[in-house]
Amino acid sequence: HAARSVTSTFAVHEPSMNDRRAADAAIAEALEGALQRDEFTVLYQPIVDLASGRVVAAEALLRWQHPLHGAVSPATFIPVAERSGEIVGIGRWVLEQAVRQVAAWRAAGADLSVTVNVSPRQLQEPHLARDVLAVLERAGAPAESLVVEVTESAMVDEAVEVAALRRLRSAGVRIAIDDFGTGYSSLQYLTRLPVDILKIDRSFVAQMDGTPEGAAIAEAVIRLAQILRLTTVAEGVETEGQAAELLALGSERGQGYLFSRPVPPEQVSALVARRQDAVA
Ligand code: C2E
Ligand code: MG
Ligand code: MG
Ligand code: MG
Repeated sequence: HAARSVTSTFAVHEPSMNDRRAADAAIAEALEGALQRDEFTVLYQPIVDLASGRVVAAEALLRWQHPLHGAVSPATFIPVAERSGEIVGIGRWVLEQAVRQVAAWRAAGADLSVTVNVSPRQLQEPHLARDVLAVLERAGAPAESLVVEVTESAMVDEAVEVAALRRLRSAGVRIAIDDFGTGYSSLQYLTRLPVDILKIDRSFVAQMDGTPEGAAIAEAVIRLAQILRLTTVAEGVETEGQAAELLALGSERGQGYLFSRPVPPEQVSALVARRQDAVA
C-alpha cells in the first residue's frame, strides 16, 4: 500500500534511488486531496526587531498532519509538491490564510507584516501577481503587509519569475531572498532580482561563536545588505550571544527559537501584547 511506504522509507537511513522514488510517489499520492481533507495548517514564527525586541513580522510555515502518519515535515513534502504541481493550489491556500491573518492582526491594532514562502512553480503561474493582489484587496490588507520569500537556488525560468516578482514589487509587496548564501549564484541574483530583504541562512548564524572567523559570512552578508540598502533578517537565532552579535554587526531583524518557535496565530498576538505591556 502506497501510504505505508511513506513511513517505512522514512525509517531507512541511506535510501537507494528506488526507495526515494517510491517514497516520493507515496507522498505525492497522499498529498492529492490533502487540502480538501483539511490536513494542512499554517503556523507563524515571529520575526523581531533585534534592537527593541519588538515583533515586527511573522513567517507563515505550512504544517501537514497526515491521518495515518502524523506530522510530515515541509522539508520532505514541499519538494514533492513542487514536482507534482500540487504546490500551486497548496501555496495559494497558504497565501490566502496568511493574508487574512495579517489583516486580522492589523485590525486588532498590531502593526505586523506576514512573510510567505513562494515556490518557483507558483511564480510561473501566468496570473500570480494579479491573483496575489486580488487576495490582498479582498482581505483588506495593504500590499506593504506582505513579504514574498523566494530561494535563489530554486529558480527555473528566471525571466518569467523575475517578471512576476517585479509586478508584485511595483504594487508594494516586498521580496525577500530566503536562505541567502546557500544557493549557487547568490551574488549574481542580487543584481537581477528585485529584492528588499536578505534572510541570512541559519547555517551561518549557527557558525557564530564570538570569533571573527565564525562570524565572517554573517558579517559579510550584513555589510553587503547595507551597501545595497536591503534589510537583513538572521534566521535560526537560538542564543542570546548570537542575537547580541548580530545586532552589533548591524542586522536589523532576527528569527529563531530564542524568540519563538512557529506557533498558532493567537500566540503571535499574545507575544505582541506582552511586548507592549513591557514597554508601557
Ligand atoms: P524556511 O523558509 O527557511 O523556514 C525556516 C525554517 O527554519 C522553518 O522550518 C523553521 O521552523 C525553522 N527554524 C526557525 N527557527 C529555527 C531555529 O532557531 N533553529 C532551527 N534549527 N530551525 C529553525 P520548517 O517550518 O520545517 O520549514 C522548512 C522549509 O519548508 C522552509 O524553510 C521553507 O523552505 C519550506 N516551507 C515551509 N512552508 C512553506 C510554504 O507554505 N510554501 C513553500 N513553498 N515552502 C514552505
Ligand atoms: Mg522562508
Ligand atoms: Mg529560510
Ligand atoms: Mg530553508
